[in-house]
Amino acid sequence: MTGSPGVGKSTLTNVLAAEFRRRDRTVGVLAVDPSSPFSGGALLGDRVRMQGHHADEGVYIRSMASRGHLGGLSFATPQAALVLDAAGFDDVIIETVGVGQSEVEVTSTADHVLVAIAPGMGDSIQAAKAGILEVADIFVINKADHGGAGKLESELRGMLEMGHAAGTDGSWWPPIVRTVAVREEGIPELVEAVDKHAEHLRDSGEDRKRRKARALHAVREIALERIRARFADLDAGDDTLLDTLSARVADREIDPYAAADDLLEALDTTRP
Ligand code: GDP
Repeated sequence: MTGSPGVGKSTLTNVLAAEFRRRDRTVGVLAVDPSSPFSGGALLGDRVRMQGHHADEGVYIRSMASRGHLGGLSFATPQAALVLDAAGFDDVIIETVGVGQSEVEVTSTADHVLVAIAPGMGDSIQAAKAGILEVADIFVINKADHGGAGKLESELRGMLEMGHAAGTDGSWWPPIVRTVAVREEGIPELVEAVDKHAEHLRDSGEDRKRRKARALHAVREIALERIRARFADLDAGDDTLLDTLSARVADREIDPYAAADDLLEALDTTRP
C-alpha cells in the first residue's frame, strides 16, 4: 500500500486489516515510514493508529525503522514479510510512502502493489508518477467522498492508456477502486480486487517471476552486506590498508581509482 502522505494509507491499511479479519484471514502489517520520528520505536504510533486491532491475535503490527537494519529497509522489509508469511499470516500489508529508492524497491517486491491517490491533493498523481505508477497492480482512489473523484479517475485512465500504448504487456489492466476509508466504503471491493490479482498471478506464472525478483534482491543485498563487512575488517585497527592507501592518495603518490582497485584486491574472497 503506497501513496503520498495524507492520501489515507494508514486509514486504508487499518480498515483493510479489519475486512481481512471479517473474512477470517489473519493479517500482518509492516509500516515503513522513513520520515516518522517514531520509526523504530513507533509502538505508540501503532497503538494510536491501529487501536481497533490491539486485542486481536490474528493481527500483528510492526513498524520498520529506516536505520539500523542489516542491508537497509529494502532488505529488512521483504525479509520481515517472509517471516510473517512463514508464521502463517494469510495476508501481509506493507504500508509505505513510496518515495525514495529503497521504498520503490520495497514496493516492487510485493505481490500486489496498491497505489493510493486522493482527490483534492493536486500533486497526488504527480507524486505517484515518480516510478510508482508503472508498478501499480491496483489503484485506490480514496476520499471518494470529496468532490473530484470522477475527474481524478478519468485523468488516471488517460495516463494508464498512454502507458499501456507505450508497451506494457497488457495482460493485467490495473483496476481502479474507489474508497472512503474513514467510512469503510469500497473496502470489500478492494479485497476482491486483491484476490482477483492473486488469481491472475497464479494463472499467468507471474507469481514465480515475482518470487524470483524477490530472491534476486535478497541475494544481492546479502552479498553486498558481506562485502561491506569485509571492508569493515580491512578498516579495523590503526594501521589499516585503507588508511595507508588514503595517505598515499593524499600525498599524490597514487590516484583514488588505483587505491580503490588495491583495496578491492585485498578483499578476502575466500571467506564464506
Ligand atoms: P496517510 O498519511 O496516507 O497514511 O494518511 P492517513 O491515513 O493518516 O489519513 C490522512 C487524513 O485523511 C486523516 O485525517 C484521515 O482521517 C483522513 N481520511 C482518510 N481516508 C479518508 C476518506 O476516505 N475520506 C475523508 N474525508 N478523509 C479521509
